[in-house]
Amino acid sequence: MNDYKTTEIESLISLDMFDWSSLFAISIVDLQSFEVVYINNAMKTIMANSNAKNCWEAKYGLQSPCMWCKAQELINKAKLTTNDSQSEQYATYENFNEGANKWYQIQEKLTELKNGHQYLISFALDISIQKEAQSQFINSHVQLRQKTLALEEARKQLKIQATQDPLTGLYNRRYLQDVSQKLINLARREKQDLSVIMLDIDKFKNINDSYGHGTGDAVIKRLASLLQKYSRKSDVISRIGGEEFAILLPNTSKKGAYGVAMKITEMVGKQKVKINKTDSLPFTISSGIDGVDLESDQNLDAALTRADSAMYQAKTTGRNKVILND
Ligand code: GH3
Ligand code: MG
Ligand code: MG
Repeated sequence: MNDYKTTEIESLISLDMFDWSSLFAISIVDLQSFEVVYINNAMKTIMANSNAKNCWEAKYGLQSPCMWCKAQELINKAKLTTNDSQSEQYATYENFNEGANKWYQIQEKLTELKNGHQYLISFALDISIQKEAQSQFINSHVQLRQKTLALEEARKQLKIQATQDPLTGLYNRRYLQDVSQKLINLARREKQDLSVIMLDIDKFKNINDSYGHGTGDAVIKRLASLLQKYSRKSDVISRIGGEEFAILLPNTSKKGAYGVAMKITEMVGKQKVKINKTDSLPFTISSGIDGVDLESDQNLDAALTRADSAMYQAKTTGRNKVILND
């Protein structure tokens, strides 16, 4: 760029040009007196009192210097910096003008004139639209995040509801069916036993009829917690009907399952469920056991039916016992 052209362009960009600018509000403040020495029309429209002498009163209607004033900061920077690092003497910040109810991006520069005074030249650009868009974006992002979290929670709940029995927290029949196919495949691959216990509370109808549904529910819940206590973590315990339960025991022989069922029956025998302040009620269970035939059983149904008929045998031969199919 030659000197002639530079000078010509500089003469084009004079303060007069900015007088009619509606985009940039410009002010120049003498930092010796804090008097406003120049304002353009755009600045006039957003000033609190364009006739006031001091910049804080003129710009913001304040009676003392603005808390956010960057003048001193720029003066300090100017003292520290050499001439060739002019950019250090700029300050850019955002400010909300309450009078105009608008956001401005303010760019300020410190300049020293030949009279020895330092002047603060401020450019204010209305960024209210950008700010509004930004806050809408943040709001919608927050809302989206909240909705996503709620959706995730709902999905989690739905998954629990789809697999869990609400009264006991045990798995339901549907989950047992779903998982059994995987466990049968696994048992085949690993050549491991897979057994099933069918289990039913004895004379449960009598409990309901004599002591009410609340006591009946309490008995079901007590049994459920015993089943959890005396089974392995890998066993699938499910409530498949009102007072009927099925336990699928991976890597467990029929004899092993028999031992588990006997232990549970013994522990149930030691239980009593409170029916009022002074009385509590014992209850018993009957169980039937069989193993999944990994060669001929296609799914769990056949083994469940066989275990069920063993349980029926336990019922018809006196209850409170475990029958193991040969
Ligand atoms: P058995 O010894 O032969 O098993 O006799 P039972 O009385 O236990 O068997 P039955 O099938 O005649 O009765 C089961 C009762 O369980 C009938 C039903 O009203 C009750 N029941 C089913 N679901 C629930 C439940 O969630 N809560 C309560 N309290 N009772 C239930
Ligand atoms: Mg029953
Ligand atoms: Mg029953």
